Amino acid sequence: MNHTASQNLFQRAQKIIPGGVNSPVRAFKAVGGNPIFIKSAKGAYLYDVDGNQYLDFINSWGPMILGHSCEMIQDAIKEALPHSFSYGAPTEREIEMAELIISMVPSIEKVRLVNSGTEATMSAIRVARGYTGRDKIIKFEGCYHGHGDSFLISAGSGAITLGVPDSPGVTKGVAQDTLTAPYNNLAAVENIVNANEGQIAAIIVEPVAGNMGLVTPAPGFLEGLRELCTRSGIILIFDEVMTGFRLAKGGAQELYGITPDMTTLGKIIGGGLPVGAYGGKKEIMDVVAPAGPVYQAGTLSGNPIAMAAGVIMLKFLSKHDEVYNYLHNISDKLVTGMRDNMQTLGMNFTINQVGSMFSLFFTRQEVKDFESAKTSNLDLFGRYFNSMLNRGIYLAPSQFESLFLSTVITDELADQYLEANLASLRELKNYL
Ligand SMILES: *Cc1c(COP(=O)(O)O)cnc(C)c1O
Repeated sequence: MNHTASQNLFQRAQKIIPGGVNSPVRAFKAVGGNPIFIKSAKGAYLYDVDGNQYLDFINSWGPMILGHSCEMIQDAIKEALPHSFSYGAPTEREIEMAELIISMVPSIEKVRLVNSGTEATMSAIRVARGYTGRDKIIKFEGCYHGHGDSFLISAGSGAITLGVPDSPGVTKGVAQDTLTAPYNNLAAVENIVNANEGQIAAIIVEPVAGNMGLVTPAPGFLEGLRELCTRSGIILIFDEVMTGFRLAKGGAQELYGITPDMTTLGKIIGGGLPVGAYGGKKEIMDVVAPAGPVYQAGTLSGNPIAMAAGVIMLKFLSKHDEVYNYLHNISDKLVTGMRDNMQTLGMNFTINQVGSMFSLFFTRQEVKDFESAKTSNLDLFGRYFNSMLNRGIYLAPSQFESLFLSTVITDELADQYLEANLASLRELKNYL
């Protein structure tokens, strides 16, 4: 595969953009090689600037759940365009968007729209602090909640991939208010809560962790957090930026039947345009300005073009439960096929899956938290990634990310993926 044009663009980009990319997860640092520059995408395929075609298993890290350049969303954007692109004044679409979110996500009674997942989580903890009058929060090692200062402590996603889970630039003052516990370890959380009685404003958690590779919540973990928070007057925040509208139309909270006090959303909610949201119980959300004293604002929040895309996406998902059945079935097929491939080759690496999110870890250990995720052989992952890329399969360029399926992955394309998987795993046998 020829990547000359991508390499040239990367040279140019590196001179003027830090690391040549506008988000660290796009770099190929962890897998060797240079990032592929994309020219366009349609359906299940990405096309790069050298004219190569790839089957896409990242889907913009989740948002493109219906595949790329979906006609329905294109039409909604086209319809909105002639009415101008931003007013800085309220519109009916924002209400429609809020009504859709509230109808779909069980925990949300009132919602505020923002422009990214990062804004949603930053705002949610400010609200939790304002509401409870407490300063500290608990997060889990290897969970990622965007790049807000309070969350860059044992952070997942690109922060793990690049070896900076605790970012320089976060002040000691901020860092000391973020307490961390291992994922799936309820006893550790209870100890922290007991040692900081009356001081914890919120526990924020990815109900299914997708930013240290895919890690599923152990039975009782989410229930335990719910009980602990209720007992101790702590706001339970589910960060469903990744899982919202993906694992079910109401996200992980619908799938597991646990209702948090607040929820943060992003990714799918904008249909590929920049939208985030945070919401929860009315009495909590009513502390947000101008209803209450906790300040949060945004010049472009509720942007009309982004709303047009988001409303049509959510309307579609709210009416089509079969989307989730389809995604879960095709993902099951992929995971079962990968397990069969490994058996054929006498390999037994760990695969974690929930619905249309899954990760293949190059370890034989069960992966249930950040420590066990780190037992993965990253050299093998890098080789596997590049081997798949050369076979036209575009995966996340890091072990510590989940893959995201879209509805345009057909049975036939799933077979293509599995063939590439078998060939790539076979290549790895030389390095075991
Ligand atoms: C992606 C992600 C975020 C951050 O969202 P951005 O839109 O990238 O700012 C926050 N939380 C989780 C769980 C995410 O996966």
